[in-house]
Amino acid sequence: MPVKGQIFVVSAPSGAGKTSLCRAVTDALDNLTHSVSTTTRKPRTGEIDGRDYFFVTEDRFRSMVEAGDFVEWAEVHGNLYGTSRRMLEDLVDRGIDVILDIDTQGATQIKEKFDSPVFIFIMPPSLEILEERLRNRRSDRDDEINRRMARARDEIRDFRRYDFIVVNRDFDKALHDLRSIIIAARCRTELLDPDWIKRLQ
Ligand code: 5GP
Repeated sequence: MPVKGQIFVVSAPSGAGKTSLCRAVTDALDNLTHSVSTTTRKPRTGEIDGRDYFFVTEDRFRSMVEAGDFVEWAEVHGNLYGTSRRMLEDLVDRGIDVILDIDTQGATQIKEKFDSPVFIFIMPPSLEILEERLRNRRSDRDDEINRRMARARDEIRDFRRYDFIVVNRDFDKALHDLRSIIIAARCRTELLDPDWIKRLQ
C-alpha cells in the first residue's frame, strides 16, 4: 500500500472546465483532495476565502515568496498564484492524494521538485467552444477574455509535457476519464510498499 500521497497536476486553459472537473473528481474518489492556492487575484462572485483560494495582497504574496512558503508559484493573467509548501507536504506525508490545479509554469516547477507526479491536461474541444464558455461565465471583462484566449493557445502548445489528456467535450465523459486516470495511477508499480511486496516473495 502506498505510504505517501500522490500528486496529480491538472492544467488547462482557463474556461476548459478544470475547476468543476477537479471538484467533481475529489467528491467521487476517497482519499483525494485539492490544494487551495494563494492568489493576488480579486475574488469572483461566490468565491470564498480559504475554500477557493487564499486571497492576499501582492505585498503579502511577495513576502511569502521570500520566506519560501511556496513549492511553486507563477504569474498568470497578471496575477500571482502559488501552492503552499506546507499544505502540500502535509497532505502527501499523511498519505492523501492531492490535485494541484495549476498552470503550465507551475507544473514545470513541480516536475523538477518531485519524483513521480502524474501530469494531466484538460483540453477544450475547440477554441470556439472555449471562448463561448469564457463569455458565458460573465465574470470577466472583454479584455480579460481576450488575454485568456491568447494564453490558452500558449498553454495548449505545452501539452506534450503531460502524461494524459482529457478532452472536456462532455462533462460526464471527461469526469469518467479523469477518475479512471487517477484510479489507474494508484495502481502504479512504483507505488508498491517494498516491505509488503517482500512478504509476498
Ligand atoms: P483563475 O484565476 O481562473 O482561478 O485561475 C487562473 C489560472 O491560474 C488557472 O490556469 C489555474 O490553474 C492557475 N492557478 C491557480 N492556482 C495556481 C497555483 O497555485 N499555481 C500556479 N502556478 N497556477 C495556479
